[in-house]
Amino acid sequence: MKWSLAHIFTLKEAPADAEITSHKLLIRGGLIKKLAPGIYSYGHVMVRALRKFEKIIREELNSRGASEILMPMVQPQELWEETNRWIEMGAGLLKFKNRNNQGFCLGATHEEAVCDYVRNEIKSYRDLPRNLYQIQTKYRDEIRPRFGLMRGREFIMNDAYSFDIDQKSALLTYEKMYQAYISIFGRLKLNFRIVQADAGNIGGSQTHEFQLLAQAGEDSLLVSDSSTFAANVEICPAMDFEPVEKSNQPLQQLETFATPGQKTIADLQKFTGVPAKSLVKSLFYAHPNGTQFCVLLRGNDEVNPIKLKNLLSLSDPPLFLTDDEVNAATGSPPGSCGPVQLKKPMAIYMDSGIEPLSNYIVGANKEGFHFKNVNHPRDFEPTQVADLRIAKAGDLDPTNSSGKLQAFRGIELGHVFYLGTKYSQKMGVNFLDSLGKSQPIEMGCYGIGVSRTVQACIEQFHDADGMIWPMEISPFAVHICLLDSGDSELVEYSDRLEGQLEKSGIDVLVDNRDERPGVKFKDADLLGFPIRVVLGRKGFDKKEIEIVDRATKQVTKVSPENALSEILGQLNALASR
Ligand code: ATP
Ligand code: MG
Repeated sequence: MKWSLAHIFTLKEAPADAEITSHKLLIRGGLIKKLAPGIYSYGHVMVRALRKFEKIIREELNSRGASEILMPMVQPQELWEETNRWIEMGAGLLKFKNRNNQGFCLGATHEEAVCDYVRNEIKSYRDLPRNLYQIQTKYRDEIRPRFGLMRGREFIMNDAYSFDIDQKSALLTYEKMYQAYISIFGRLKLNFRIVQADAGNIGGSQTHEFQLLAQAGEDSLLVSDSSTFAANVEICPAMDFEPVEKSNQPLQQLETFATPGQKTIADLQKFTGVPAKSLVKSLFYAHPNGTQFCVLLRGNDEVNPIKLKNLLSLSDPPLFLTDDEVNAATGSPPGSCGPVQLKKPMAIYMDSGIEPLSNYIVGANKEGFHFKNVNHPRDFEPTQVADLRIAKAGDLDPTNSSGKLQAFRGIELGHVFYLGTKYSQKMGVNFLDSLGKSQPIEMGCYGIGVSRTVQACIEQFHDADGMIWPMEISPFAVHICLLDSGDSELVEYSDRLEGQLEKSGIDVLVDNRDERPGVKFKDADLLGFPIRVVLGRKGFDKKEIEIVDRATKQVTKVSPENALSEILGQLNALASR
């Protein structure tokens, strides 16, 4: 392909809203262009990378017996009402009405659509198993789209849905997809970790995320230093490396004491001399059912909203009470409130870290006062004790008593879920088993962020000069910098080389623009295709052509006759690197 004919453009500067390197490079290379927040056009170079990644996905899924379909992006309200997700998905689902006032949404995910697609068509156990996938645009009205394609509103996803006769075979399919994902991300040479994760509002009981380890990641991961345990912090069990022993101190008399102006745990620690880990803080929440409840944590711990959501079987984390609501419920503004002698009775969820504490301090529900020598269950009765805190680096590996957790940042590339019969029951996706009895089908669902993963490759593979594409999805394999584009002998040679390479199935971009060599080299570095070939009059006169490896910048000089075989040799070597 000739640059002079293609609509390929590069920019000197990235816009101010591009915060992470891959976002900056994709914009500067003209690979993506913003149309609205979180909504991008993909340029020609980007489309080539996307198509190559999609080809990898198709190969890996087809070879494991999955079949490709394509479902609609616009979906009717009634379908989503069958699972109650029309409401549960909240504002993330973009809803609209047609001229007849019928409700629709843009597909944020396709469990409902695929259930509708297979119900009535899968009749008996003989029709199972099935695994259907698609590669399609999704729309999620993300609150804070950012980092380019990493958190888009409109993005490309590969989603797959499996149907099996029972749990055993559903878990085998899960394992097959898990292995497929290892192969897919492995072919991109990505540095990924598989972590245990929260099922979010997709639901399901077993789930793993495929996470690229990257500083720019939005997810926090905890990985053991001495076992294979790895989890998203959202669900990671919190276990103290040195657990506090249950004290056998005698319980002391409950007392109020004045703490004027002491509002935060830091204030209270300074004021009382008691370390934060021995203080207890109280947080107050609204339950979607209209009630209020209290959560207790040690002063140095943070609440994990996902654990709280899961404990209460909610679809979203609950919201804090406002200061006025706290005042009305406890008799004191936040800072002096606690679980003892509450004005209004309410459920009290206590983090397990408090269990061994005794004679501790909490707010006295009176502004400027705290209680000391507080003891449960003497002074208040916890409704439930549970792990509600965020696990952190240095905590114990929950699977290995000598291991410690280490913290990493991650970018979620893919996600596999075992769903069981959650959707099939609600949507009547049944089959007749070998005894002729109707049973709900066992399901799994699987998703890869196609556009996010292509950007994630650049987040992992780049240097100060630009992108460095992994071979398998590089938009072009060879970038010919034709320095003297008016020189007919050079043009003829370049055309011949391009033709020979393309005959071998290699994608070639020829920069035949009327530009200075410096501009061409800079753009070639920015676009980052694996092999650059420099064709110039000066070199040609000396019978010399430069072949440059983009990743290592290593230059090899060859004669025009040997250029083709040298390029093919280097590409082969790169493919197996
Ligand atoms: P996240 O936690 O990042 O919001 P999710 O868990 O909601 O993602 P899934 O429903 O598991 O996402 O979707 C499957 C895959 O789609 C994800 O693993 C991710 O790679 C991709 N994805 C999800 N949301 C976005 C988005 N807003 N922009 C780009 N890719 C996305
Ligand atoms: Mg996910």
